[in-house]
Amino acid sequence: MTDERFDSSATTTCGYCGVGCRLETHTRAGRVVSISPATDGPANRGHTCLKGRFAHQFSRSRERLSTPLIREDGALRSATWEEALARIARELGRIKTDHGPDAIAGLASSRATNEDCWAMQRMMRAAIGTNNIDNCSRVCHAPTSFALRKSLGFSGATGSFDDLEAVAAFARGRGLWLHVDGAHGAAALLSPKYRHLVRGLDRADSFIWDAHKNMLMPALATAVLFREGGRSYEAFSTKASYLFERSAREEWYNYAHRTMECTKTMMGLRLFISLAAYGTDFFGGYVTAVYDLARDFAALIRDSGDFEAAVEPESNIVCFRYLKKGEADLDGLQRRIRRTLLERGNFYVVQAEFRGRAWLRCTLVNPRTTLADLEALLAEIRAVA
Ligand code: SF4
Repeated sequence: MTDERFDSSATTTCGYCGVGCRLETHTRAGRVVSISPATDGPANRGHTCLKGRFAHQFSRSRERLSTPLIREDGALRSATWEEALARIARELGRIKTDHGPDAIAGLASSRATNEDCWAMQRMMRAAIGTNNIDNCSRVCHAPTSFALRKSLGFSGATGSFDDLEAVAAFARGRGLWLHVDGAHGAAALLSPKYRHLVRGLDRADSFIWDAHKNMLMPALATAVLFREGGRSYEAFSTKASYLFERSAREEWYNYAHRTMECTKTMMGLRLFISLAAYGTDFFGGYVTAVYDLARDFAALIRDSGDFEAAVEPESNIVCFRYLKKGEADLDGLQRRIRRTLLERGNFYVVQAEFRGRAWLRCTLVNPRTTLADLEALLAEIRAVA
């Protein structure tokens, strides 16, 4: 990007977390339209994370909150600060009375001043009576993502598909960029039988597709696909005067202009040659076969009487667990089973946490795997449990 595209630029400090990265904000027609890292920032030295660089759109969001909101009967309504603060105080008092002070935790904002954070920890310790106090960005949102995992579970554990058409309609209606994580699931596009699972993907502004996940390619063969190719330069360009000449042309062949890593192997070549040699039908047939196998495996689990599946599989990922009679700690049992399976070396399974419980997780990628292999897996689990 050249500076001529902006009316003015100003230096500021990122307010998203406590690292304090120095940023250059670029404005056009009175709006911040781009942010780049300041090369002289002592904390970031020419780098930022994604939030510092791209999350500036919130400043002009029509949905930016301007008053406190109170949820009543499942719906949010605007409230005054006095009403909201009185409600918070009342609810905290009720929770403390009903469940004790340790039922409450406080996360101070990294955007608050030192004095405000000090007052917050005093309130938690002295007024509430708990030591449950942290800040939101101790290690880049570690406490908040921990809380998210505890309440919603791990992402991607079950290999399920979102309703992309509904998500696309939501994003379009609000002027939001729609990025789809299709790292594993986008390969369903190639299967006539399972293509419906990614209906709406054509409305994405960008999506990730890892050919090494479900296209039989060796690691690493991954792509970020953009609806408008020029966006990839805006997102990933870096400044390095000793490497790059300023150029108005895209130079599509030169990945150094649009990747974070300057030097990169030509990952797409493997996929290009494989597609040219075998054709898309071959890969579509492969996806159909492993997705079918996952459904057959789930049926086997259902019929077994001593295993359960977390959900009906939508892709080639199956999460399941062994229900050993009389076992009080089923979560601990799955972890022990997995460790023993890995030590024995006949099968490789990973673990997943879903809805607060531990599961064994299989991703069926080898086209030579058969239902008989999966029957043998269940038999070995019974033997080691
Ligand atoms: S690490 Fe990211 S969020 Fe934190 S100050 Fe730097 S750019 Fe902002």
